[in-house]
Amino acid sequence: MTHDTIVLGAGMVGTSVAFHLACRGRSVALVDRQAPGQATSFGNAGIIQREAVQPHPFPRDVATLLRVLPNRRIDIRYRPKGMAESAGPLWQYWRHSAPERYAAIVAEYATLIRHCTQEHQVMIDAAQAESLVSKAGWLEGFRSQPILDEVLANARTLEQRFGVTHDLLDHRALKAAEPDLSDELIGAIQWTNAWTVNDPGALVQAYARAFVEQGGIFERMEVQRLDPTTHGWRLNTDSGALEAQDIVVAAGPWSLQWLTPLGYRLPMFPKRGYHMHYSLADDACLNHWLMDFESGYLLAPMRSGIRLTTGAELTTLDGPSRGGQLAAAERVARQLLPLSERLDDEPWQGNRPCMPDMKPVIGPAPGHDGLWFAFGHGHQGFTLGPVTGRILGEMMTGEPPLVDVTPFRPERFTVS
Ligand SMILES: Cc1cc2nc3c(=O)[nH]c(=O)nc-3n(C[C@H](O)[C@H](O)[C@H](O)COP(=O)(O)OP(=O)(O)OC[C@H]3O[C@@H](n4cnc5c(N)ncnc54)[C@H](O)[C@@H]3O)c2cc1C
Repeated sequence: MTHDTIVLGAGMVGTSVAFHLACRGRSVALVDRQAPGQATSFGNAGIIQREAVQPHPFPRDVATLLRVLPNRRIDIRYRPKGMAESAGPLWQYWRHSAPERYAAIVAEYATLIRHCTQEHQVMIDAAQAESLVSKAGWLEGFRSQPILDEVLANARTLEQRFGVTHDLLDHRALKAAEPDLSDELIGAIQWTNAWTVNDPGALVQAYARAFVEQGGIFERMEVQRLDPTTHGWRLNTDSGALEAQDIVVAAGPWSLQWLTPLGYRLPMFPKRGYHMHYSLADDACLNHWLMDFESGYLLAPMRSGIRLTTGAELTTLDGPSRGGQLAAAERVARQLLPLSERLDDEPWQGNRPCMPDMKPVIGPAPGHDGLWFAFGHGHQGFTLGPVTGRILGEMMTGEPPLVDVTPFRPERFTVS
């Protein structure tokens, strides 16, 4: 079957791209082996991170590196095989995290982040999905005053430079906001212009329905190969072939599997995260999304229970699930909130699709006509899907894009 465009991958990013193309009159097939929003975009922490103008750098100070080395931390762990497989990208990541380069990256990254809530709102309205979203911000909780002071000083700078807003909650205000927390946290910063979603997968599904209402088609099929033809592209799948003039690869951490055979060598690497849901004991409740900053995990009151999400594990894309990081986070979280039983049979795992310069790859492929990239959104793909969708929709239909796309173009890497 022939379409104008095929979008490969129905996570937050691909679904948003498909929606924006359909709104611009393109005939679009959105293809995924699962229903929309069932992979990485399902299991994340569900924060639309308006505050995240500073992407996560590679730690460069010796004290932090020495603390990470024993591999017992909650926020970051590593597997030797993952480190070996991603050695090149991780080395580049280290270099891009040097202070001067990192400062330039923040300025570029912020141009995307500053539009995140406004662009989600467009899709929330189209999908009538307001009930999934809270606009009350989220809490970053602290155990020590010097660290709270440091983050607070940074928050004030972010407000002036990038319009990121916050409130400071002292211990009393935090207890008023979250009465069931123990006294371990001395206070919190509430990031007030970030939004939260109580079922991230359901939001992507709602966006996918809005795409179909715009005339788009969702095709559930496992993609096997991607081949150029004389007039476009052919997607070979487990249930037949699809053809289109343009194809957008938006398959999150899996994106490179079709691009490597076409000659592209892009340095993407996975940062694994885990989640588990819990019930709460004794009528306790959690009102806000809450990050335990010094420990490095997050608690989120989702529709399906209190979702604990872990920090990053540097491993291979298909590396085995390891329970240690989640178990360590759970032990600390139980001191903070009366978590009761685990609600899932197994921990969920997903891989943040990360680029060494911490910026997504958005734009036309340098070596092929009609091939477009939209992946590598790392820690903020749930946040940045709709902005990416709009920008790519604009680029593909010849409109001026919302932001300067130069920093996100694929050719910034040696691609083939
Ligand atoms: C623990 C954790 C917490 C996070 N918290 C947040 C957060 O609070 N806020 C935030 O902004 N981001 C967060 N992230 C990051 C965010 O989840 C990702 O950046 C985002 O989901 C990536 O979206 P995507 O659409 O690029 O990829 P995905 O959602 O992974 O979509 C890719 C799609 O491609 C499909 N696919 C792959 N291979 C094939 C094939 N062969 N055939 C057909 N289809 C295929 C998959 O089925 C999948 O649906 C978190 C990530 C993790 C792991």
